[in-house]
Amino acid sequence: MARIASYLLAAYAGAVLLSKGLEREGLLVCDCPRDCWCHRPGLSVFRWTFPVGHGGAD
Ligand SMILES: [Zn+2]
Repeated sequence: MARIASYLLAAYAGAVLLSKGLEREGLLVCDCPRDCWCHRPGLSVFRWTFPVGHGGAD
Protein backbone atom coordinates (compact mmCIF):
# COMPACT_ATOMS: atom_id res chain seq x y z
CA MET A 1 0.00 0.00 0.00
CA ALA A 2 2.75 2.39 0.95
CA ARG A 3 4.52 1.48 -2.25
CA ILE A 4 1.49 2.38 -4.34
CA ALA A 5 1.10 5.68 -2.49
CA SER A 6 4.72 6.64 -3.05
CA TYR A 7 4.43 5.67 -6.71
CA LEU A 8 1.36 7.88 -7.14
CA LEU A 9 3.10 10.71 -5.31
CA ALA A 10 6.10 10.45 -7.62
CA ALA A 11 3.85 10.37 -10.68
CA TYR A 12 1.96 13.42 -9.42
CA ALA A 13 5.19 15.29 -8.74
CA GLY A 14 6.34 14.44 -12.25
CA ALA A 15 3.10 15.78 -13.71
CA VAL A 16 3.49 19.00 -11.69
CA LEU A 17 7.05 19.50 -12.92
CA LEU A 18 6.04 18.68 -16.49
CA SER A 19 3.18 21.18 -16.47
CA LYS A 20 5.43 23.87 -14.99
CA GLY A 21 7.96 23.21 -17.74
CA LEU A 22 5.32 23.43 -20.46
CA GLU A 23 3.98 26.61 -18.93
CA ARG A 24 7.43 28.16 -18.90
CA GLU A 25 7.84 27.24 -22.56
CA GLY A 26 4.54 28.92 -23.35
CA LEU A 27 2.89 25.65 -24.39
CA LEU A 28 0.37 25.90 -21.60
CA VAL A 29 -1.40 29.21 -21.23
CA CYS A 30 -3.86 29.94 -18.48
CA ASP A 31 -6.82 32.04 -19.61
CA CYS A 32 -8.82 32.11 -16.43
CA PRO A 33 -9.92 35.27 -14.59
CA ARG A 34 -7.35 37.32 -12.70
CA ASP A 35 -8.98 36.53 -9.38
CA CYS A 36 -8.69 32.78 -9.91
CA TRP A 37 -7.00 30.90 -7.09
CA CYS A 38 -4.29 29.65 -9.43
CA HIS A 39 -2.73 33.11 -9.65
CA ARG A 40 -1.82 33.04 -5.98
CA PRO A 41 1.86 32.55 -5.25
CA GLY A 42 2.63 28.94 -4.52
CA LEU A 43 -0.61 27.63 -5.97
CA SER A 44 0.25 28.06 -9.63
CA VAL A 45 2.11 24.74 -9.57
CA PHE A 46 -1.26 23.04 -9.05
CA ARG A 47 -2.92 24.96 -11.88
CA TRP A 48 -2.86 22.00 -14.25
CA THR A 49 -2.73 19.10 -11.87
CA PHE A 50 -5.59 20.23 -9.64
CA PRO A 51 -7.86 22.10 -12.07
CA VAL A 52 -10.83 22.46 -9.76
CA GLY A 53 -12.76 25.71 -10.04
CA HIS A 54 -10.22 27.03 -12.50
CA GLY A 55 -9.99 27.50 -16.24
CA GLY A 56 -12.41 30.34 -16.80
CA ALA A 57 -15.48 28.14 -16.41
CA ASP A 58 -18.19 30.71 -15.71
ZN1 LIG B 1 -6.93 29.56 -12.85
